[in-house]
Amino acid sequence: MNRPIRMISTRGESPAVSFTEAMQRGLAPDGGLYMPDPIPTLPRSFWNGLAGASISEIGAAIATGFGSDAEESQKLEQVARTAIDFDAPLVRLSDTLYVLELFHGPTLAFKDFGARFMARAFAELDSGEDQDLLILVATSGDTGSAVAHGFYNVPGTRVCLLYPSGRVSPLQEKQMATLGGNITALEVDGAFDDCQTLVKKAFSDAELRNELRLSSANSINIARLLPQSFYYVRALAQWMELDEHIYPPRFVVPSGNFGNLTAGLMAARMGMPTAGFVAATNANEVVPDYLKSGIFTPRASVETLSNAMDVGNPSNFERMLHLFEHSVDQFRTGVTGVSFSDEETVEKISEIYQTYGYIADPHTAVGLLAAERASTPETPTVVLSTAHPAKFGDVVSPAIGQEVPVPARLAECMNREKQSTRISTEYSEFRDRIRSMSN
Ligand SMILES: *Cc1c(COP(=O)(O)O)cnc(C)c1O
Repeated sequence: MNRPIRMISTRGESPAVSFTEAMQRGLAPDGGLYMPDPIPTLPRSFWNGLAGASISEIGAAIATGFGSDAEESQKLEQVARTAIDFDAPLVRLSDTLYVLELFHGPTLAFKDFGARFMARAFAELDSGEDQDLLILVATSGDTGSAVAHGFYNVPGTRVCLLYPSGRVSPLQEKQMATLGGNITALEVDGAFDDCQTLVKKAFSDAELRNELRLSSANSINIARLLPQSFYYVRALAQWMELDEHIYPPRFVVPSGNFGNLTAGLMAARMGMPTAGFVAATNANEVVPDYLKSGIFTPRASVETLSNAMDVGNPSNFERMLHLFEHSVDQFRTGVTGVSFSDEETVEKISEIYQTYGYIADPHTAVGLLAAERASTPETPTVVLSTAHPAKFGDVVSPAIGQEVPVPARLAECMNREKQSTRISTEYSEFRDRIRSMSN
């Protein structure tokens, strides 16, 4: 008999809880991040029979292992089966170079995996309450649109997004602020930090918390991390159908907050065969620096063209340390790290297009650079592609010398009417707004 799976804090000072409790809390009371203990492994028969398995079959097999009891396991399996209704296709560029496209979800970003699963997990595991759950999200762009689409029309939930006026791209604004229904977008007269401050004030407002069921959907939530392991295994399922699949591939992960890479490390702990992981970053290179020096020095982020990876103090670093038992030597055997400049990134977009006719977005290009730089170039490599190039047309089009074709889903969204409400940075105004929107 295995002992039941519980979620423990990376800081070890909070009680172990069920998946549902960890999801509701987001952050553990001691300030740590939740991790499964032990990490549920899948049997050899699962890995041997993986060829061609769909992402929902894989998700169901993984998610069921995260439940603390039979009922929670069954609900998680159900969520995984229905939440991820889009694929992660593996595209071959050469005998040794593959791209795993993670941008086929509703907002064409890989954050759709986490957001859709989390939304449905809340609906399924947090049910039986009279009052709607109100999710507050401060966003500077992509997370907000993925969360909005993930929760759109999910029963028992409402989402309030706060974004800085004039500081998100027109496309991001359309993706966030045109849904209506249970999604409310507030355009804040201020910067992203002001949005974040308003949300923090609401969470520490005892009176408001008494009245409303508030929750957050931030990237450290275990319910966003878990589904990100599914697509690594889906990559392997496609890999096993290829002729040259004898050796398991290495995964290159364009990284910012390191949730994506952490999910890959978890998949490996579940038993997934792999030749290892490469952390690819832009100039925000705290993790590659840590792997070099053994010292982690968080710093202010710097702006780059691959801006979804502009993170100077990645929160999931704590989870990776936990996985590697705080040993830099262990860390180095599991992960190598490399960083690249904006100039190299643009050059790579152009080169990949000329060589393979493939259009990569700036984040994916950082990954492709890392694949080329990695040692043992003969090792087959899968680069995770985190965004559709059309979302970064201003960088990609000049690099390839032509317009990036815009998928119908994005083009259609640009024609929709913006429905956001403008508010000041005054807390009382925000508070009145969210009071009036719940039930
Ligand atoms: C969020 C994001 C990343 C970084 O992912 P992490 O899990 O934070 O490392 C990379 N690319 C794109 C396009 C993203 O939106």
